Amino acid sequence: FAVPDVLSTPTPSEKPSLPVIENALQPRLHLIDEQQKFSEEFSTYISDKWALKDAGFNYNLAAVFGSQSTGKSTLLNRLFGTNFDVMSETARMQTTKGIWISRGKGMKVLIMDVEGTDGRERGEDQDFERKSALFSVATSEVLIVNLWEHQVGLYNGANMGLLKTVFEVNLQLFGGNRGKEKTLLLFVIRDHVGATPLANLSNTLCADLERIWHGLSKPEGLEDCKITDYFDFMFTTLAHKLLQPDKFESDVAKLRLRFTDASDPNYVFLPQYSKRVPVDGLHIYAGGIWDKIMTNKDLDLPTQQELLAQYRCDEIANSAFIAFQESIKEFRQPIESGNIVEDLGPKMKDIRGVAMKLFDKDASRYHAEVYKRKRSDMLTKANTMLEAYFLGQLKNLHKKAVSLFSTNLQQALRQEGAEFSAVSTGARKEAFDYFLQGAQAIKLEETEWSYDEEQYQLEHGLKEFAAAQREKELNKMLTSLEKHLSKELDEPVGLALNNPGPGMWGRVITIYQRTVEDGEHLLQKKARTFDLNEQEQAELIVNLRRQAWVLLTKKIQEESVDGMMLLKLRNRFEEKFRYDDHGLPRVWKPDDDIDTPFRKARDETVELVPLFAKINTTDPVKGEKFELEASEDFDFDQSLKVLSETRQQEITTKFKRESDAFYLEAKRSIVATQAK
Ligand code: GDP
Ligand code: MG
Repeated sequence: FAVPDVLSTPTPSEKPSLPVIENALQPRLHLIDEQQKFSEEFSTYISDKWALKDAGFNYNLAAVFGSQSTGKSTLLNRLFGTNFDVMSETARMQTTKGIWISRGKGMKVLIMDVEGTDGRERGEDQDFERKSALFSVATSEVLIVNLWEHQVGLYNGANMGLLKTVFEVNLQLFGGNRGKEKTLLLFVIRDHVGATPLANLSNTLCADLERIWHGLSKPEGLEDCKITDYFDFMFTTLAHKLLQPDKFESDVAKLRLRFTDASDPNYVFLPQYSKRVPVDGLHIYAGGIWDKIMTNKDLDLPTQQELLAQYRCDEIANSAFIAFQESIKEFRQPIESGNIVEDLGPKMKDIRGVAMKLFDKDASRYHAEVYKRKRSDMLTKANTMLEAYFLGQLKNLHKKAVSLFSTNLQQALRQEGAEFSAVSTGARKEAFDYFLQGAQAIKLEETEWSYDEEQYQLEHGLKEFAAAQREKELNKMLTSLEKHLSKELDEPVGLALNNPGPGMWGRVITIYQRTVEDGEHLLQKKARTFDLNEQEQAELIVNLRRQAWVLLTKKIQEESVDGMMLLKLRNRFEEKFRYDDHGLPRVWKPDDDIDTPFRKARDETVELVPLFAKINTTDPVKGEKFELEASEDFDFDQSLKVLSETRQQEITTKFKRESDAFYLEAKRSIVATQAK
């Protein structure tokens, strides 16, 4: 056929009837090159050069097929404002083989220009034709089939071979999805002279298509499938570009509406043609398909979509995660250094929500089950990372609760009249509530997090801590009680022992009983504030009695050391020997009998020593002996012993020697008066 001298790109002389065409050339990409290599720049073009990154499903993909030099590229450039190479009239150079892709200017349409698809006409191998057909059918919603009017009805022509290939690969891909997945074939009949109406042309084409379909060997089980189970058809004509340039332009403008105007009755991008690949995953999907085609592996689209979904969901999750990790970083330092992060719960929830939203935005467009699974993976991963902060904050809350308890307790105890058990219960509740509130506030929904263990630990910890504090306070109280007891005992007991005689032990026992009674009274008063139970009270009272007894015997031991004993004896002796019955000092006269009073006073004094041998526990009021229970480190009977036999002897001897001095002194005093 004769190709007229046509410039396919608009020149200033040409009427600019396409307002979408601007001065800047629409970037195009050699998607599959002459070496059949898939371009690595596809995703960059989608996001940067064509600005479709965030389009999601809101884009369309179409491809053009047809014999060489039938004006395909010319048509696309006119229709979509693209910039595909057009065979130059003067150079008559073959355009670059492969698949070119570009975005339609001002529309969210990706358009593939499939070059070199009529190898059979030029005797080349049909391998690439099949591959590119497979690729186009697997990715495109609409296939534009471009042919000259005079090619219609040439059943054995190159176009028919191409269509046979398209049908075969379509069956291979979508055979199982009979009636569900459809592809639209839009036949554009070029250089339509007008003598044969479109209806006739399309009838002829339909008949040919049916014949091709009939001749195909169908897969098992699909022997009776119809061409319309897999394809929808549209037919249109374009006027001769050179002979009727105005008509050509208006035909093109009308045709464009089918791609851009969803309300056009012939709108081509119907939902049932969609391959449901979000644009951000298109490079992966298309690349994967080309890879399968090149390695001759079974190309199964559902699997491809699942693989795509897995790959993309992972990618989307990873990038959402980077932002997520960046956001949660701020918690790390404060929590690790033991602080409590204000509003950690809501903050974590927000950050997790943002990450999940970021994931959902892109990932939700992919294969539903894969998306659901990956979403739950992502949530689990996010929760795991946040759980470290949850646990860290719990630990810090626990610590803070304990110290809160401790300071509150100390503070409350410093107050006048503070009762330990009430104060401690109050402080414990406050600390515990503080923890519970803090823990509740950081437990996120959709997690398995639990603070039961920490709660349990804290409860027990606080109890133990309170018990220890109580013990401490109780001991403090007992120590001061002991001081009190010893004060109460010391003086009266000293007095009683310094006036030895038969009633001495009775007086001591009376003092002891009175002191103990006093102590018990005080203890009972304190018992209430410490919430002592009866057994504890009874034990403390037994201890008190023993304690007081120990204090008493200590005092008695102090009073009965040698020096003290001798002092007591000397005092008593002096009273008897050096003073008369009226308490006046005796002046010995020469006739006085010194020996008898001396002996009497000495014997009476010496008689006191055995009194100190052992404490007599007979209560002078009740008239009965009392006893204390012995314990491991307390032997009541032993505690009664004051002066052993030997010590009595020693003290007696020492005393007698001392008393001799008094005798001599008395004698000398007489000599002195006689000498005057
Ligand atoms: P492709 O190989 O199918 O992409 O065809 P091209 O777009 O490169 O065009 C091949 C030749 O056909 C070029 O010299 C164009 O000027 C010419 N041409 C383009 N459109 C038409 C048309 O509508 N009618 C005719 N007769 N020639 C055209
Ligand atoms: Mg071309």
